[in-house]
Amino acid sequence: MAEITWTEYQHRIKEESPVVLIPVGALEQHGPHLPMGTDHLIPTAISRLVAEEVAAIVAPPFNYGYKSQPRMGGGNHFCGTTSLDGHTLSIMLRDVIKEFARHGVRRIAVMDGHYENMMFLIEGIDLALRELRYEGIHDLKILRIEYWDFTSNETLTKVFPDGFPGYALEHAAVMETSMSLYLHPHLVRLEKLPDDPPADFPPYDVYPLNPAWTPASGVLSPAHGASADKGKNLIDEYVQRIATALKDEFPGI
Ligand SMILES: [Zn+2]
Repeated sequence: MAEITWTEYQHRIKEESPVVLIPVGALEQHGPHLPMGTDHLIPTAISRLVAEEVAAIVAPPFNYGYKSQPRMGGGNHFCGTTSLDGHTLSIMLRDVIKEFARHGVRRIAVMDGHYENMMFLIEGIDLALRELRYEGIHDLKILRIEYWDFTSNETLTKVFPDGFPGYALEHAAVMETSMSLYLHPHLVRLEKLPDDPPADFPPYDVYPLNPAWTPASGVLSPAHGASADKGKNLIDEYVQRIATALKDEFPGI
């Protein structure tokens, strides 16, 4: 969307009724080997590939997200991790959705790459739909997608032959490292892969958070075994299954 003109955009909205994909991520430490933009770089890349399969326009990504939580992102204490308050994220998404609706967009998919964003994105979607109803717009439909929900058991077994540690500990680990190796290998510092054992969190949170709970590298489980091949496996599956979901929900794209 940022790379086309307003007249091309307007024409496509009118003629194709495309779905507008909004990638959302974070600026967050991803260990010594992955870029801090990993959580928006991955869903943006997936969105661009999905847009080759269906009538879709990829909106500029949200590059900042909600605060990193220790048990899923390592915690917000790392240098570089730069986060929004929850209501800021909700209001940003509300505003952008309302603007797209004003342009005539009636099909949107929010493509999240950072787990902590979830409830604040739901809030932004809900506020936008509520306010648009007051303005007489009732036909806007929005999907909220977390790409990892599209992983089949078959692919999980291929990517984790020794057993899957769970999505929460997958921060900067095998999945994100593999996808980064496939999508943007020049941004991966494989020689910096840390040797920390998997994080061992108690089953509760504490505030203020205790940085000693998180491995010093910021990686929550070992990324050894990551490969571009595994990344391709994951990305191909996400693109194909997300495109199918969009076609199911938005006939004709
Ligand atoms: Zn991540």
